[in-house]
Amino acid sequence: MLSQRAKKIKPSPTLSIDAKAKAMKAAGVDIVGFGVGEPDFDTPENIKEAAIKAIKDGFTKYTPVGGIDPLKDAIIEKFKKDNNLNYTRKEIIVSCGAKHSLYNIAQALFDPGDEILIPSPYWVSYPDQVILNDAIPVFVKTVEADSFMAKPEVIESHITKRTKALILNSPSNPTGLTYDKKTLEKIAEVVLKHNIYVVSDEIYEKLTYDGVTHVSIASFNNEIKAKTIVVNGLSKSYAMTGWRIGYAAGPKEIVKAMTNIQSQSTSNPTSIAQKAAVEALTGLQDFIHVMLTEFDKRRRFLIKELNSIPGMSCITPTGAFYAFPNTSRLYGKSLASKKISSSSDFSLYLLEEAKVALVHGDAFGDDNYIRLSYATSLDEINKGVSRIREAVNRLS
Ligand SMILES: *Cc1c(COP(=O)(O)O)cnc(C)c1O
Repeated sequence: MLSQRAKKIKPSPTLSIDAKAKAMKAAGVDIVGFGVGEPDFDTPENIKEAAIKAIKDGFTKYTPVGGIDPLKDAIIEKFKKDNNLNYTRKEIIVSCGAKHSLYNIAQALFDPGDEILIPSPYWVSYPDQVILNDAIPVFVKTVEADSFMAKPEVIESHITKRTKALILNSPSNPTGLTYDKKTLEKIAEVVLKHNIYVVSDEIYEKLTYDGVTHVSIASFNNEIKAKTIVVNGLSKSYAMTGWRIGYAAGPKEIVKAMTNIQSQSTSNPTSIAQKAAVEALTGLQDFIHVMLTEFDKRRRFLIKELNSIPGMSCITPTGAFYAFPNTSRLYGKSLASKKISSSSDFSLYLLEEAKVALVHGDAFGDDNYIRLSYATSLDEINKGVSRIREAVNRLS
């Protein structure tokens, strides 16, 4: 009965683990949640006020499909100021979240049989969005020894006549890697040499640590800018995951096609959320700094703790809000009938034995790791890692 397309798709594993943990919590179990991919901070007051004002003013009707001009202008200013990128309104589209922007890109750009390069570990939705559009995900495996960075020459070695695009994500979910400028410049050269596109997911751009800064691959020159679609959004930087505002910038023919596709599916993103987004981008930016300072404290603490658990090791992430520890040395161990031989086994073991929720690395394309989000309080992190330590100590 269901279409071939529907049969090929699995639900987002991060969202389903979150649902399982929430159900256990609702049943009264004291779960420590490292699963979620969203800030635990409340949306700043000035942003909420702008939304309330929009409602009171009656700004509650359809808007232009690709977003209202004041929001496009705020996005254009953001690109100028933060990324040294100049766009016009025709090169910008606002969607119902960055995920929706990415989906529109896949629909606008990928044909059946096109090969799309995805550095692995990857964010969970990239392969499925490629598959949903009958294109083929081609994984470019990266390793911990390179901080999970996809090397330009390795990317190049995966390019064939059928390669259409490369999906880049920096800072990265799940690894926390932030690509450096030199590497990105070399990747840009490879992209231009082979005339493919880059989809650059920069949603964690504001969340970097240790003096590392984000650079957009589109910013190097006009040639690479013409082959890049930059994706960004408000969910992570402004704690606005539920508002569903994301955006993309790129060549106007592509943006126009994305807008047409959006006009036949969701129409415009919520009018009220668009007004809130204008305030987020143009209002005081202090919130980001406050959130980042807190994330940084948690990051240092969590990484130190994870590295002190026998059998686990974790490189220090420079962006986003995730730790991605290596758990492979624990595989083969067991407790009674519970044998750990994969990241799923280990995650399930921790959920049942330690009442700690996190995501198995397999979901991101690498079974030797697990992902912990530190978008939760220091107290919870402390409680959670103690429980993990105990549960690991019980394995033999
Ligand atoms: C959270 C996330 C997104 C999606 O964000 P929304 O704007 O809420 O749709 C996109 N890419 C990555 C890597 C993410 O972690």
